Amino acid sequence: MNIKSLFNQYKEQSLYGRYIPFDSIAPLLSTQSKIGMLKLEGRSEEARDIHSLTIGNGAFKIFMWSQMHGNESTTTKSIFDLLNFLSFEGALQEQVLKSCTIKVLPMLNPDGAECYTRENANNIDLNRDAQNKSQRETNVLFNVFEAFKPDLCLNMHDQRSIFSVGNTAKSAVISFLAPSADESKSITDSRAYAMQLISSINQKLQPLIPNHIGRYDDAFNINCVGHTFQSLGVPTILFEAGLYPGDYQREKTREYIFYSLIYLLELVTTTKTSLPKINHYTTIPENKKLFFDVIIRDAKISNIPELVDIAIQFEEKLLNKKIELVPKVHKIGDLSKFFAHKNLKANGKSVFINDNSTIQNHQIIKELSIENEKISMI
Ligand SMILES: [Zn+2]
Repeated sequence: MNIKSLFNQYKEQSLYGRYIPFDSIAPLLSTQSKIGMLKLEGRSEEARDIHSLTIGNGAFKIFMWSQMHGNESTTTKSIFDLLNFLSFEGALQEQVLKSCTIKVLPMLNPDGAECYTRENANNIDLNRDAQNKSQRETNVLFNVFEAFKPDLCLNMHDQRSIFSVGNTAKSAVISFLAPSADESKSITDSRAYAMQLISSINQKLQPLIPNHIGRYDDAFNINCVGHTFQSLGVPTILFEAGLYPGDYQREKTREYIFYSLIYLLELVTTTKTSLPKINHYTTIPENKKLFFDVIIRDAKISNIPELVDIAIQFEEKLLNKKIELVPKVHKIGDLSKFFAHKNLKANGKSVFINDNSTIQNHQIIKELSIENEKISMI
């Protein structure tokens, strides 16, 4: 199986970039309802629809949801790529649909998706609401979980561009986590299975994005959905789609998430495959926060006598239904222990932001130049 050609063949062309509101997926839901069952599961706090799609007739039940954080759209794109794949005839598709029932909530937080926020319309982080269940969206998720009784849950997110794979200069393009089920982070049966699946996906993905796969922060928090489901004995995997170098639309990461899902479906439907031992999981390096979007190294600025490094982070702003990247000064000092998606070498020359070489934290950058030369940050 040539996995790259699968992606090119089944990629959902109508979805692109970072801004994926409900209107973008609505026409796809009706198309996909030809191969699966489309159900209105409930409504958000601002009364937008939350749908599920169920496909396949098999015994093994997989439940996946995306965009519980409204501005985390990469995995939503990958899910529609996967649904396209599953809607065509083929050996793997047949195997999957015969042995699995897959229930997808492609957009749990349509209000957050609309205005491009992590939280829902009441400014609640739905991934901290697993115990309170104070929001309609949380109740939709739990009602589906309880009625469907999944054997495996996939909790699908985007992560910020700041993560490195361990202490290395490789950005975490994808991170996985088998969330812990309790404070002592014991390896319960469900967690062990999630760890084994992650290990196997990691082994298959490594040749495609060598050393760009990390393990997400393992702190236990029962208010998070993944930890709650794992504590209820249901194997749960957290997917975190990160930044592939330079890919601010996250179209490359979308592709690798698609591959991860294909590998996962192959794994759970091929009984002959023996899964790796769980200690493989711990060899995946834990994420560290060592990346900035841009670092200007050895810059001369007028308000600090010695040469400094300047870190720039892009903030995403929704403007006319498009996401604009707004570059801002994030840190000034010695950043030799940090990495950047783009490194600019000033080599002791004067750096000007908006024509001024007095440079402060949090400054918005309209124009960057090193001496007289204008520099692009992307
Ligand atoms: Zn998230």
